[in-house]
Amino acid sequence: MKTYNLDFLIAGLVLLLIVLYHFKKQKKLDSANNRIFYFFVITALADVSFDMICTLLIMAESAELAALTRVLLTIFYILQLTLPVALVYYAQTLRETSLNKIRKEMIIWFVVPVIILFLIITNYWNGLMFSIDSYGIYHHGPLYMLMYYYALLYAGILAFLTLIHGKELTEKNVAVLWEFLFIEAGCVIIQALFGTYLTTGFGISVGVTVLYLTIGNPNTYMDHMTGAFDKHYFDKWFLEQQRKGKPIHVITINVPELKHVNKIFGNNVGDRLLMYITETLQQISPHVQVCRISGKKFFLLMNTLADYEQTRDKVLNLFRKNFDVDGRYVPFPAIICGIINGEKLPENTFISYVDYMTSVVKNSRETVLIQSDEKTMNGFIYEQEIDIFLNEAIEKNLFDIYYQPIYSIETNSYITLEALSRLWHPTLGYVPPDVFITLAEKTGQILKIGLLQFRRVCCFIKENEHIMKQIQHIKFNLSPVEILEYGHVQALLDIIQEYELSFSYFQFEITETVATEYSAHLYEVLDLLLDAGVTLCLDDFGSGYANLNTVLKLPFSCIKMDRSLLRGLNEDPQVAFFYRSLISVLHGMNYRIVAEGVETKEEEEKLREWGADMIQGYYFSRPVNSQEIVEILTKFPNSLI
Ligand code: C2E
Ligand code: CA
Ligand code: CA
Repeated sequence: MKTYNLDFLIAGLVLLLIVLYHFKKQKKLDSANNRIFYFFVITALADVSFDMICTLLIMAESAELAALTRVLLTIFYILQLTLPVALVYYAQTLRETSLNKIRKEMIIWFVVPVIILFLIITNYWNGLMFSIDSYGIYHHGPLYMLMYYYALLYAGILAFLTLIHGKELTEKNVAVLWEFLFIEAGCVIIQALFGTYLTTGFGISVGVTVLYLTIGNPNTYMDHMTGAFDKHYFDKWFLEQQRKGKPIHVITINVPELKHVNKIFGNNVGDRLLMYITETLQQISPHVQVCRISGKKFFLLMNTLADYEQTRDKVLNLFRKNFDVDGRYVPFPAIICGIINGEKLPENTFISYVDYMTSVVKNSRETVLIQSDEKTMNGFIYEQEIDIFLNEAIEKNLFDIYYQPIYSIETNSYITLEALSRLWHPTLGYVPPDVFITLAEKTGQILKIGLLQFRRVCCFIKENEHIMKQIQHIKFNLSPVEILEYGHVQALLDIIQEYELSFSYFQFEITETVATEYSAHLYEVLDLLLDAGVTLCLDDFGSGYANLNTVLKLPFSCIKMDRSLLRGLNEDPQVAFFYRSLISVLHGMNYRIVAEGVETKEEEEKLREWGADMIQGYYFSRPVNSQEIVEILTKFPNSLI
């Protein structure tokens, strides 16, 4: 009688039970990947158990148990048949979330298992693979090695699929799958060499444990500090809901004050606050899952409107009060966004949509709730379309330039023009520059647009150089991105030279925002421009929170008062007083002043009285195309308008 050593199988069984216990207990996504992993562990467990029972029965060589041994061995063979298929399936779920799709792709790999299944079942009668005689003694059949070849074949299939789909899998996943194959191959070789040690089942258990520890563990999708799920989990969850056609409702929480809390109360308090918040959010409902997407951003995921409403109210209550950390009352306002039916958004845009919604209230010091509605979603979808269109517009140079004349109070004539970009979408129509310039600034496309448009302005001047006798210069807007990009300003100067134009034909407008961001590079760029002979104008003065001390140190020859400063000028004496005082202060510092956004006669009269140098606004003229601007200038040569 042959004796076998069962120690390895017992060890394997223990390993699998530990993995199963932890996996069952963990919070996890109901995904194809997790379902197949669970199936794989259960099959491995059954396989090792049947391996052990059958070995004991074979060793017993009992005539009474012969029939039972035959049945159990058949089941064991079926399990041996299933395991490699489950492993290959599992490997496919690492790159593809739809089980149906995987099934379709794998259909040809099912031919062999089906044939072998037929052989295993018929083996009961013909003993081609094994037989148990009436004394209960085990005999190899002529196809005894078939199961080994089969395992080898499936190892080959797994290796093959891993190679061809390597790009869709992460490096880590590929490495772990290879590791699994090597462990199992090693254990099969040991069993083949030392027949008494049953290491094949043990190899599977070790392989499953390795999978669990590296990629199969749902905890790998967890934020370790708070115990919430992480961004990977959110991505997988989102895809999974889309695949199942479930509604996607998400409440997002942004805590912009985290940096301040860390600074004032210490990192410890900040961390504990985040942990407390996660715990509280996790208790809202078992149907609501909490993800920490980044340091300051949480997403609460759910599928029903009832959950959405209940969660939204609880979250608002939580953040409207100060938090108590060791008796210290810490204010921790949040920007909360509610998004219903997120599945309606274009693919892969959910996070950008949340940023789009939050950007409206960047500077809030109080907890605010913004709920997504059709208008916001359409606004976002509109921007997305424009964003896509911008690439085409740049490639085909579809932009245009309009010019708005600026009137001099001193000479009673137009003294300069501002060049303003224009863009039309074939179906959406006129696209406001505030939309496409802001988008282009975010993506960096503004650099290309800036160059195209500047070339257009130079071309316009070249064709109409006579107008430069009448006006001092043409104003061209430079975005902060353009100024801070190394070499961009030099490229603009090169274009002026290419067209053989005078540098003094140009004045660049720069907004307060860039002027307040002091950097050595900014000074270098401004020097470059001034040395060449280009002048500078500070744009949108008074629209933000400029640090006057820094701004006014920069070499501007002109300051353009933002049109928001004019709001309420006629009704509110305070506004009028403020505007008037600004003019006198800035004049005292030798700046020339442009009043922007003048729309009425009253405004124009007041500004004239207060001594503004120039006026830009619809009262005189809207921005017009190049042909019209030449006509306007020709119609009013240096004289009263
Ligand atoms: P901005 O530099 O402040 O330009 C002045 C804006 O005020 C223009 O808007 C102009 O049409 C508008 N405006 C002029 N007079 C009045 C008025 O009396 N009432 C009102 N309500 N508005 C008036 P526009 O053309 O829509 O441009 C918006 C912004 O887009 C510009 O603001 C500028 O920041 C940016 N922009 C436009 N073209 C370019 C460009 O080629 N490059 C860069 N970097 N930015 C540009
Ligand atoms: Ca401007
Ligand atoms: Ca402006």
